[in-house]
Amino acid sequence: MQRNTDRKAIAPPYVAAVKMRYFRRRLMAWARKMRRAFPWRETSDPYRIIVAELLLQQTFARKVVPIYEEFLRRYPSATELARAHASKIRSLILPLGLQYRAKTLKALGRILVEENAGKVPDDLRSLLKLPGVGAYTANAVLCFAYGKRRPVVDTNVVRVLQRFFGSKKPLRPGETDRMIWEFAERVLPQRDARRYNIAILDFAALVCTHYKPQCSTCPLRKHCKAAPSFLAHERDSLRIVGH
Ligand code: SF4
Repeated sequence: MQRNTDRKAIAPPYVAAVKMRYFRRRLMAWARKMRRAFPWRETSDPYRIIVAELLLQQTFARKVVPIYEEFLRRYPSATELARAHASKIRSLILPLGLQYRAKTLKALGRILVEENAGKVPDDLRSLLKLPGVGAYTANAVLCFAYGKRRPVVDTNVVRVLQRFFGSKKPLRPGETDRMIWEFAERVLPQRDARRYNIAILDFAALVCTHYKPQCSTCPLRKHCKAAPSFLAHERDSLRIVGH
């Protein structure tokens, strides 16, 4: 019963395939021109991907770049990471905050070496057992490193899906987890999941932002459920300023 109510919250069950196709097509076309370049997007090495994902948690991507590069120079594989002193890792990642990640990273290196022959697992269940790895990170590793068709869903992705497809109440990952993941998987294209996932992450960061989404220039505005109210609000603000 609860599940049905939640499903209606993000999108009506009758969301047409044609609307999903429109969303994917416009999003991917936008990303071809606007995609952001990051070093972790130039690799499919699972170790490099999982390190990037742990460093990126609750942190601005631009801030992570120099630390990520230095991190990999010092600890190029799980073996070096397992041998590292947590205090050295802590001082390296200090500018990113969330210092507990030093212990998490150290533990990750140790477990990869002791239990996985230094390799990052390629199945969801094993990934979720690793320190610091939740559903988002596990799916990001499966998609970005192993090329599997898995959605990546964080608060930013939820915001875009919720606004575009419509919802009856605000949603947060964790609140109605299964429904969000199932819906994100329905929208995910059959091929090229990596490119699509990168596109939606970038789109959330650059266009459909938390505050002041760029609706008036958004390539999805024609069929976006939230666009009319954002655009009306924008017009009202301009009118007030005009007075
Ligand atoms: S029209 Fe506005 S709310 Fe809709 S997807 Fe674009 S930026 Fe987001």
